[in-house]
This record gives sequence, structure tokens and C-alpha cells, in this order.
Amino acid sequence: MGYIEPAPIKDKENPFESMMSRFRIAAQHLGLDDEVYDVLKSPTRQVIVSLPVTMDDGSIKVFEGYRVVHSTILGPSKGGVRYDMDVNIDEVKALAAWMTWKCAVVDIPYGGAKGGIRCNPREMSPGEIERLTRAYTQEMHEVFGPDRDIPAPDMGTGPREMAWLMDEFSRARGMTINSVVTGKPLVLGGSLGRTEATGRGVMITALAAMERLKINPYQAKIAIQGFGNVGSWAARLLEERGASITAISDLSGAYVNEKGINIDDAIAYRDKNNGSLEGFAGVAKITNEELIELDVDVLVPAAKEDVIHSRNAAKVKARLIVEGANGPTSAKADSIVNDAGIMAVPDILANAGGVTVSYFEWVQNRLGYKWTGERVNRRSDRIIKTAFNNVYRVSQEYNVSLRIAAYIVAIDKVAKTYKYRGGF
Ligand code: NAD
Repeated sequence: MGYIEPAPIKDKENPFESMMSRFRIAAQHLGLDDEVYDVLKSPTRQVIVSLPVTMDDGSIKVFEGYRVVHSTILGPSKGGVRYDMDVNIDEVKALAAWMTWKCAVVDIPYGGAKGGIRCNPREMSPGEIERLTRAYTQEMHEVFGPDRDIPAPDMGTGPREMAWLMDEFSRARGMTINSVVTGKPLVLGGSLGRTEATGRGVMITALAAMERLKINPYQAKIAIQGFGNVGSWAARLLEERGASITAISDLSGAYVNEKGINIDDAIAYRDKNNGSLEGFAGVAKITNEELIELDVDVLVPAAKEDVIHSRNAAKVKARLIVEGANGPTSAKADSIVNDAGIMAVPDILANAGGVTVSYFEWVQNRLGYKWTGERVNRRSDRIIKTAFNNVYRVSQEYNVSLRIAAYIVAIDKVAKTYKYRGGF
């Protein structure tokens, strides 16, 4: 019998618990009232719908769809819609709360939400996905709205699905309302700068953190996990700022060149090679697990959650981690990373460039006006830089990690607003 490689060990964390463990620490530092704590930990609304869809072969399949609105205290709720077989209510609840904190930390006037449908979009035809998206929008049209809850793309969805969602919502209301959703194609009111926005925010926060750590970007070696939208844009923009990207990766594995990888070449190769880096020349191949432990100055996990876990956290050699992905560091690994003196720019700050430009898309739609890409970038850079400085200051003030500081900033803002608004 052949040797079967064991599955990678990782901290299996319930995503809601993982979010709550950080929330609890920040709440304790803030001395949050029990009542406010209870309000902020409970999602405002959880909707589960069943969606019968006619498949191409004439059969009817029933899908389950979710939308969780965690909070509307700061404004209409905002968050993506995920199409994936692993979607479940606990995950959607956690991601919705994450969105509340993310919007609050960058100070944009939104609450948090998340949605999803349990399905495998890779096994469905475009027609089936369109009918599923329209059915979901119909069921959720009382939840969604430009002043209520504004969806966006997430895993398994993109501009195409957002166009269908906007169209179906507009039909239900009898008029075109493009501000109900962001991440739309440009011709439907999408924003310039949205595609690169998250990677750009990663670059801005990475440079700000490097400045604090006195790491010269021109001498910095950076490893980036994930070469999709976030990872490849972060790589390109950091390379433009003088850094040497010595490792990149995707599902096919990780690729290393100590002298630095030419990112434009890697992007061109990926685009010609069906989205994969497999076979990219001039690099040594290692595993994604090995990439985490490389001897680099900066590590950017920009693929998936829980890749830095309790078993490999002590082996991280980078002095700085910038979380392009959502939840790449498990809650159990947090303290190991901190004790090792590694600075970690948390996801709710590092990848908030995306939601910031989504907000600009909504603003432009409501103005009926288009901004230049230059204006979008300038304004989002300013927002992200200000948020970083604010979180950094709070981390010094409370003597906590940037992650807990980001939660403190966010929770404080939402709690104060809640106190002004009041309840029943
Ligand atoms: P994407 O689908 O464009 O790219 C994902 C990349 O990660 C691909 O290169 C894929 O091959 C790689 N990957 C997938 N599984 C992997 C694995 N097990 N090991 C190594 N690599 C793997 O996705 P994206 O939009 O770049 O999102 C990446 C992360 O960033 C996700 O956690 C997402 O939630 C988060 N994020 C994205 C945005 C955005 O605007 N796109 C905003 C905020 C956060």
C-alpha cells in the first residue's frame, strides 16, 4: 500500500467562536457594559431561505440560502455573498460580524452582513447560476436595499452575479437601483480601482507597518500566499514600491526565487495558464506550508483561513504578517505570534481596502457620477493609512496587539454609536 500523505494539521476553529474570542478580549479592555456586549454579539437578523431552481436537465433542485445582518448601528449593512458547498449559518454569522468590525475600523458608515448559498458553482452552468442568483434575490429583496443591506461579491461570486442581483432587485422595485449592490461590472456602475483595491490596502498597511518596524522596503523580502485578486495585486504593488517578492503561491504549490520574482511575468503566465502558476519557470517549488516558514521580512497570507495555526506559528520567521485573507491566523496562533514579537496587521484592517472602494462605488451610484481611478486610489489610501495610524496608536495606548487594537477601535465606535441611538 502506498504512503498516504496526512492531511495538513490545522486548528479547527468554529469561525464564530474564533471571532468572539478576540471580541471578548477587546471588550474587556474597553470595560464594555454587559448589556452592550450582549447587543453587539448577537446578529440583528438571520434569514434562511430555500431556493427551488430548475436545472438544465429539467429537474428541480432545492438550495439553501442565507443572509445574516449582524449590525446596522453605523448604517446600512454591507457584506458579500458566498457560493460554496461549505457555507453554513455559523460561518455566515462570523463573517457578518467581521464585516461590522471591518467597516467600523476604517470608519465608513456601514454595518455588517454576509450571505451565501450552499452550492458548487463550478458544477453549475451559467444559466443555473443565474436562476439561482435571481431566486435568492427575490427571496431577499425585503432584506436588501441601498439604505438597508448592500451585498457584494465573495468566494464563488463576481461582477456577473452582482449584475443579475442588481437587475432582479430593480425588477422587483420597478426601477433601476444600481446602488443596491457593489462589485458590479464597470458599465453597470462599478467603480474604477475596485479590482485592485484590496491588494492596494494590503500594500498601504504593509508599508506603514514596515516604517514602524524600520524595515526598508527596498531591502525587504516578501512571501505572498495566494496569487488571486488580493495576492497578485499586493505582489505587484509592493514590487512597484521596491520590495523583492521572493515567494508566491496558489493551489498548485509555492514558488521561490531568493533574488526576487518578476511579478508581471508571473501574472502573465498565470493568465495564460488557466489561472495557475504550475510550471512557472525560474523558481524552486515548495509547499504552501513551507512558504509560511520562509526566512523573509514580511509574510502576506492572501489565500484562505487558518493557515497560521498553533503548530506552525512558532516557526514563522517573518517580522511582519499582513493579513490579505480573512482569518488566516487562528485565534490559538495569535498569542504565539505575539509572544514571538511578530507584528501582525489584522485582516479587518489589512484587507479593508476592498470594502472602502465598495463604499465609493455606492457613493458614486448615489451621486450618479463617476470618479477617476486616481481619485478613488487617493481617497482609499488616505482612509487606510488613517485607520492604520489609529489602530497603531491604540495598540500602544492599551499595550495590545494590532489585532486587539483594531477590535477595540471598532467595538468602541459601534458601542458609542449604539449608546447615542439607544434601544427599546
Ligand atoms: P481568489 O479566488 O482571487 O484567489 C485565491 C488564491 O488563493 C488563488 O491563487 C488560489 O489558487 C489560492 N488558494 C486557494 N486555496 C489555497 C490553498 N489551500 N493554499 C494556497 N493557496 C490557495 O480570491 P481573493 O479574492 O484573492 O481572496 C483571497 C482572500 O482574501 C480570501 O480570504 C478573501 O476572503 C480575502 N478577501 C478578498 C477581498 C477581495 O476584494 N477580493 C477582500 C477582502 C478579503
